[in-house]
Amino acid sequence: MECPICKQLKENKNKIYEDELIVGFLATPPANPGHIILAPKKHAPIIENYDNKLISHIFVIANKLSSILFETLQIHGTNILINNGVAAGQKYPHFYLNIIPRMENDSIKLDWSPKQLSEEDMNTAELKLKQATGNIGNEKIKLTETIKVKEAETINNEEDENYLIKHLHRIP
Ligand SMILES: [Zn+2]
Repeated sequence: MECPICKQLKENKNKIYEDELIVGFLATPPANPGHIILAPKKHAPIIENYDNKLISHIFVIANKLSSILFETLQIHGTNILINNGVAAGQKYPHFYLNIIPRMENDSIKLDWSPKQLSEEDMNTAELKLKQATGNIGNEKIKLTETIKVKEAETINNEEDENYLIKHLHRIP
């Protein structure tokens, strides 16, 4: 059976964005009006199969499309969502990202009940992850430094913090 995302890309239906690497189209049926699916043109099953250039690019464009949804559909929020793997709810065998426009009380449920873990289970997870994550940032030192500087500025500047809160709630 042909991959439904590849088929959609070929058919060009409901397309609202395209560049050399990715395509954005309206989900059918959508979670809410304006629900966008953003997918790489190159077929691969999960996010780990793609290079950093594609991953960076798809997030930059997702951010822009999210802003456009706010401006054009007068929505209150967006979920920028990746279901990575079947166990995580991935529906098609081709990596894609959802941008779901949200309104207050729109009855879309993405919530979960937190699990009560023992201290031992928490510690085990933390230790395993810390060992594995030690070196992943090394090739991206410049990028990490930029992010850290931005975070520090936000924390140290109360006005910025208020701006952030205001923006999160989209208070006019
Ligand atoms: Zn595909």
